[in-house]
Amino acid sequence: MANTASIIERSEVEEIFSELGLTGVLSGALGKDWNKHPAGAKLTSINPSTGTGLAEVLCATEDDYENIVRDSETAFETWRMTPAPLRGDVIRKFGDALREHKDALGKLISLEMGKIYSEGLGEVQEAIDICEFAVGLSRQMYGKTMHSERPEHRMYEQWHPLGMIGIITAFNFPCAVFTWNAAVASVCGNTMVWKPSEKTPLISIAMMKIAQKVFEEAGHPGVMGMIISPDSKLGEKMAADKRFKLISATGSTRMGRSVAQVVAERFGKSILELGGNNALIVMDDADMDMALRAVAFGAVGTAGQRCTTTRRVLVHESVENELVEKLVKVYGSINIGDPLDKDTLMGPLIDRISVDHMQNALTKIKEQGGKVICGGDVLEGKGFFVKPAIVLCQKPIPMMKEEVFAPILYITPIKDVKEAVHIQNDVPQGLSSAIFTNSMQKAEWFLSHKGSDCGIANVNIGTSGAEIGGAFGGEKETGGGRESGSDAWKAYMRRQTCTLNWGAELPLAQGVEFI
Ligand code: NAD
Repeated sequence: MANTASIIERSEVEEIFSELGLTGVLSGALGKDWNKHPAGAKLTSINPSTGTGLAEVLCATEDDYENIVRDSETAFETWRMTPAPLRGDVIRKFGDALREHKDALGKLISLEMGKIYSEGLGEVQEAIDICEFAVGLSRQMYGKTMHSERPEHRMYEQWHPLGMIGIITAFNFPCAVFTWNAAVASVCGNTMVWKPSEKTPLISIAMMKIAQKVFEEAGHPGVMGMIISPDSKLGEKMAADKRFKLISATGSTRMGRSVAQVVAERFGKSILELGGNNALIVMDDADMDMALRAVAFGAVGTAGQRCTTTRRVLVHESVENELVEKLVKVYGSINIGDPLDKDTLMGPLIDRISVDHMQNALTKIKEQGGKVICGGDVLEGKGFFVKPAIVLCQKPIPMMKEEVFAPILYITPIKDVKEAVHIQNDVPQGLSSAIFTNSMQKAEWFLSHKGSDCGIANVNIGTSGAEIGGAFGGEKETGGGRESGSDAWKAYMRRQTCTLNWGAELPLAQGVEFI
């Protein structure tokens, strides 16, 4: 059948999909109903470990877009009236369903995105954790009460859902970032349409089908919808569409710059979670073994494709040689290969473009005086494998200000914590940062307002691997958005200040006299 998308390789994907109970056409248009006759363009999901197709997905058409948006707006009318703790109960079931399918989802993430299985499982766990957080939140979306300056008046604030929101996500966290948004936004009473990355359609379909089953069984179809597009077109359409009260966009700074402008032009709200360029400072009094492990995981984990990846190490000059020597040894022992093999520590890059991008960046780095002392090569054979690179730079070079989404680690010597923080902050991005020190003064200086300018600042913990309990996001070109824990939920709601006069007079504020 011409309009039937299929599993190309009779491989693990088929097994995983049947384990998840997902059979039939792989439709990238998931509204209230599973679209049985999708007519959109075919998109092939590529396995980055082999470079071959895993499955073909039929993308959403403009008509599908309209239908899914309409379903979502309709669903909002009943979902907003459902008490928050009951909404929380549906999210609890969503979390339970993710828990039940954790292994299969983790495997699918490894297959399609290329991160190692342990990290794939970790990503699903993050999704489960945020569901639990959202369940608790469903009984804690508190508003404040204030003392009115006028007698016999009561003043308080309350929080209402925004309406339909759009979620645009990147390829590198295809499961967790959707859930950060979806769990919190739905508990707040919103409905949502998700446009996942065109590079990870299968895990997105799996996640959405699991979510939709739970919502449908709870009597709330249409709360979650999804449109897969072979490129960014439908994402651009969402950004410009006034019906989306909030666009939560995760991806590159280039994408965020466009989304921010388009959404602001129509006075919509946005949450932007964009690129990072994270530094890890190692002082002379640091625990070297801890620092070493944190740098290795931060720089090599997820093949350098995390927004929080450690990209720069700023190390005290007295311990630079020791750190570099040990790090080169660790890099030499890292198994690169099939992300589903339990001995593998680093999988492939997402695609050929990323491999080329890394190679071009290394050429520029060398031109600018950076010394590549280890790795950087492209591995022969199938898939998009590279060796992680270490680059020594006596002083910062211009390339260090760019986020190259690949495992390139710069090491630069520093004399003291002030110089380190100055170099750390002297980049356009402001996501994650870390210092390794056993000095309370240096740690506190780093955490003070004169210290790190990033959204995340860690002491004796690396730059990557945040917990869901905190608000996640960064400053400057990282976009300023916050998602996940703490009070990030407030961005998914509108605040209303209410003043109630229960007296028989009509006093004006600030003592103003009128009629
Ligand atoms: P990308 O910007 O290429 O794509 C991200 C998403 O945006 C995709 O769904 C894409 O289709 C869509 N898109 C692209 N241009 C658009 C436009 N003009 N309008 C609307 N939608 C558009 O990013 P990527 O390569 O998938 O992911 C890597 C980037 O994401 C890195 O820069 C990384 O740091 C960043 N990231 C940030 C966070 C964070 O929380 N700060 C988390 C994960 C990834």
